[in-house]
Amino acid sequence: MNDPLDDKARHILREAGLYCTEARVAILKVLLEATSPLRQDQIGSRLESRALNKVTVYRTLDSLTEAGRVHRAYMQNRAWHFELADHCSEKQCHPHFTCTNCGVTRCMTDVSLPMATITQKGYILSRQQVRLEGLCPACA
Ligand SMILES: [Zn+2]
Ligand SMILES: [Zn+2]
Ligand SMILES: [Zn+2]
Repeated sequence: MNDPLDDKARHILREAGLYCTEARVAILKVLLEATSPLRQDQIGSRLESRALNKVTVYRTLDSLTEAGRVHRAYMQNRAWHFELADHCSEKQCHPHFTCTNCGVTRCMTDVSLPMATITQKGYILSRQQVRLEGLCPACA
């Protein structure tokens, strides 16, 4: 049986020059299906295979993040939320909108903002991540 998600996950890994390990493929498949960024424990609980423990999930996310295929989208309640980097440019992640009423956070992939410029000496800007707050359509 041909699993299109499996193919996509393997394609992402091949492009990044990473080996297709079971853990990498499984985690990418979870992120491919996700509609918003997920915490590590949420990713773990969505994995089909129970064979992958917390440490494996942590290390795998780390290697995928290092390779630039996964982004730490934002931190909420002291936990990073991970997502695929495919809707981001090299220097800028798409903004994330959090509803102050219901707490839901959504990827705003159709919003792009100009890159900040820092005129103060000594700063090297590597990535721009923007958080937006307000009311979602359901709460507005
Ligand atoms: Zn991103
Ligand atoms: Zn809301
Ligand atoms: Zn996002």
